[in-house]
Amino acid sequence: IDWEKRVKMSARPGSGSHKAVLVTGAAGFVGTHVSAALKRRGDGVVGLDVFNNYYDPSLKRARQKLLDQADVFIVEGDINDSELLKKLFDLVSFTHVMHLAAQAGVRYAMQNPSSYVHSNIAGLVSIFEACKSANPQPAIIWASSSSVYGLNTKVPFSETDRTDNPASLYAATKKAGEEIAHTYNHIYGLSITGLRFFTVYGPWGRPDMAYFFFTKNILKGKQINIYEGPDHISVARDFTYIDDIVRGCLGSLDSAEKSTGSGGKKKGPAQLRVFNLGNTSPVQVSKLVSILESLLKVEAKKNVLPMPRNGDVVYTHANISYATNEFGYKPTTDLQSGLNKFVKWYLDYYSVNGRH
Ligand code: NAD
Repeated sequence: IDWEKRVKMSARPGSGSHKAVLVTGAAGFVGTHVSAALKRRGDGVVGLDVFNNYYDPSLKRARQKLLDQADVFIVEGDINDSELLKKLFDLVSFTHVMHLAAQAGVRYAMQNPSSYVHSNIAGLVSIFEACKSANPQPAIIWASSSSVYGLNTKVPFSETDRTDNPASLYAATKKAGEEIAHTYNHIYGLSITGLRFFTVYGPWGRPDMAYFFFTKNILKGKQINIYEGPDHISVARDFTYIDDIVRGCLGSLDSAEKSTGSGGKKKGPAQLRVFNLGNTSPVQVSKLVSILESLLKVEAKKNVLPMPRNGDVVYTHANISYATNEFGYKPTTDLQSGLNKFVKWYLDYYSVNGRH
């Protein structure tokens, strides 16, 4: 059957649901989990992903296979392709867009800055433009990042804290995205919810993230670098387990109001929100490593270094009371049990796929 038919079938909600969700970045780490969860509860879901090679494309293909088995179809294309977006909105009356496609990673921004501008700024505008013109307009939920808190030292981070000192181009593009969201909400009546994820980890995760390549290198007997901030305290992150992030994504989607415009015209005031989605319990990277050592039963070869100026920040810690009040967000997975699930997946995935 042709792809248009597959899009329509994939978008059809099950009984009891009236939601049809376009998930961009569906072959990505968070996108795969969110798409599967939406489909499981009966929503119609269509994915969109360009399958870029920022990290191992075979992992994206494996996630696609997983979604295929769950009857979620991923359209292969770029969020900057406005014709493709128009076509998708003509085929399906999407009630929501869960926009997760982006160029992620803070360090890679020093090597390939233009990919951040392409996906996180131009791509975001392209998605907003398509949603603005759609009739009916969908509500938009999109991934911002905890990195917008930049060099702030007052913790925990609250949504009302300053976001004017980003430490990386990645962070700057997410911050710019939040400003762009404001304009589309203001002019066109789009309902827009931004989610500031805090270091998400878990099965099917991203190989460019520390917990993932630490696992790989510990198993290979390779040295790993642990960075220390000032005062010789190792860098800490508010590591948040993927299932908690998925619940936050679905909760924010369910509590989103409808957009108030249609066909590019605003009819009334619309909702504009931004939420922290974190775990509220930062853990030092040295502790992360010791948990991995005990789960893998291998001692790591550690190399402790002062933190370079590579876009990373010393500390992240989410205040989540806004998300808790608005839609009952409450993370339930601590780092030990979340990493246990990750390690099980990792060993299983790479034993079957024969690669490390
Ligand atoms: P990911 O890289 O696994 O997923 C992003 C997906 O988007 C990829 O599959 C990629 O191929 C796709 N993509 C990139 N540019 C595209 C384009 N121009 N057109 C179409 N598809 C494109 O990343 P992730 O960890 O799943 O992150 C999802 C979102 O959450 C991103 O917006 C990211 O910036 C944000 N975020 C993630 C974390 C985290 O810890 N994972 C933290 C904060 C924010």
